[in-house]
Amino acid sequence: MIEITTLVLLAGFATYILIPWVLKSILRKRFLTNIASHNAVCLTFDDGPQRESTSAILHLLEEAGVKATFFMLGKNIEKYPEIATKIVELGHEIGEHSYEHTHPWTSGPIRSLKDLVKGGRMVAPYRCSDRPVLFRPPYGKLNIVTLLYTLILRRRLVFWNVNPRDYEHDSPETVVQHVKERVAPGTVILLHDGRHDTSRSYDSTILALNAILKEITNCGLAIMTVGQVLGKRSVTNNTSRASRFKETPLTSRRIRQLPPESSTGSAVNNTEILYRKRTVY
Ligand SMILES: [Zn+2]
Repeated sequence: MIEITTLVLLAGFATYILIPWVLKSILRKRFLTNIASHNAVCLTFDDGPQRESTSAILHLLEEAGVKATFFMLGKNIEKYPEIATKIVELGHEIGEHSYEHTHPWTSGPIRSLKDLVKGGRMVAPYRCSDRPVLFRPPYGKLNIVTLLYTLILRRRLVFWNVNPRDYEHDSPETVVQHVKERVAPGTVILLHDGRHDTSRSYDSTILALNAILKEITNCGLAIMTVGQVLGKRSVTNNTSRASRFKETPLTSRRIRQLPPESSTGSAVNNTEILYRKRTVY
């Protein structure tokens, strides 16, 4: 009887977590190989939108002429629909990231499915229906429900290979240094314009962003959205702006507009000045 129970538990674990984990490893490798075949870097922002942090990030990206990919939480779209609209209006790319960010390994199948479906419904009004839908699973983890959701609804899984853990650090210099040591063609950088723990500051992400942009361009790499790199731009309603950016992802003219400082610290300080303007869209 005990052996049967153990077998049932093992079979459940294998079906719910282990098989999706193995498949995720394969899908992640395929995704990153595809991205690495382009001389580009993708900037991605998760867990937003939030009023001040997302607005400040949008302002900095606009100043640099860069488009990014935002994986928005449904619950935050509900709170800040005008910020979600602004992201799309500015020509950035959006994707699903669930409604409330439940962990796929610690949530049951029904809760997990509800979270994905509700999150998808919140993103739907902001995306173009004729393009593939980008999806970044919460915590980058998959369970069997997440996997089936992805396959049946033909979501395009998006992973990352550089995570400076901006949500943990108060120091923007630490965030910048982490990226600086790893940036290369095919880098997908994970940053956060939202936080799970609302007591944590957004400042490290915002203050690090200009210096990160500078590091990427110093390496001679273009900054593109995930959809652009994969060959199909998705989920943007502002096609004219996006098309223009596709032709010239980050021109030398734009690069020259970035802060002239040579050190990371100076670029961070320059960002701080911009941030203090508190431009709220
Ligand atoms: Zn997240």
